[in-house]
Amino acid sequence: MKAVINFGHGPMNKGYDPGAIGATGLQEATETREVGAKVVQKLKANGWEVLAIQDGDLEDITNQANTFKPDAFLSIHTNSFVPEAHGIETYALAPGGTGEKIAREIQKELVTTTGLTDRGVKFANYWVLRKTIGYPAVLTEIAFISNPSEEALMKQDSWDDKVASAICRGFSRALNVTYKEGESDVLDVAVLLFTKEDYWSGADVAAKEGNCAVFVRYADRSVPKDAMSAKKLVVIGGATTGHPNEVLLSGKTKYDTAQAVAKYLG
Ligand SMILES: [Zn+2]
Repeated sequence: MKAVINFGHGPMNKGYDPGAIGATGLQEATETREVGAKVVQKLKANGWEVLAIQDGDLEDITNQANTFKPDAFLSIHTNSFVPEAHGIETYALAPGGTGEKIAREIQKELVTTTGLTDRGVKFANYWVLRKTIGYPAVLTEIAFISNPSEEALMKQDSWDDKVASAICRGFSRALNVTYKEGESDVLDVAVLLFTKEDYWSGADVAAKEGNCAVFVRYADRSVPKDAMSAKKLVVIGGATTGHPNEVLLSGKTKYDTAQAVAKYLG
């Protein structure tokens, strides 16, 4: 099965279209990319061939989609209106047919998963619904970026992940394709080095932790995201990362650090 997943708004032939912007500055184009990338990854893990498109020029989107000839097309957006407006709505071009079916299944999954207000399935003559020729196309508005509490949800990676899974379940069910949630890519444990000079002590600690992944802090001492999201983080050298389940093996000097590591290795 082939799908086109369009992350609403983004780079244009001239300039950049951020889409709607939330009260704290979150851009629609950022949120649609974050959710969209997760949708793409989940569909690919289920055997889909996926073309991901983020393009602020609508004509470019539908030209690429029509060339790709997918089984279905999905455009992901965030809604925007007055701060009080809230909830989820999903669009198809017209009632009847697979487009409406996909819209209904996605809408149902999104509402059940997020608990947000069900604004229903709607029909509209949008460009990406009308110029996508020969296959069903839907557009979903996952929530209102103009609503402060819904914008706050959009800033949570875990919420984006739930939304992406809900979209994939609805999308797949409407097209009679089984969908399985993949293994989470969160690491059980990771080792974080201060610099790559700490590699040898890091390798010993990683071996003790069942050959877990080893990360090195960035030049500005910040921590790679996958290390920070691990369930347990063993930090060798440098300051605390603030990780909730951190083992900090750090001394004032590199000799103190080496001693802390030796003690940990036992
Ligand atoms: Zn939009």
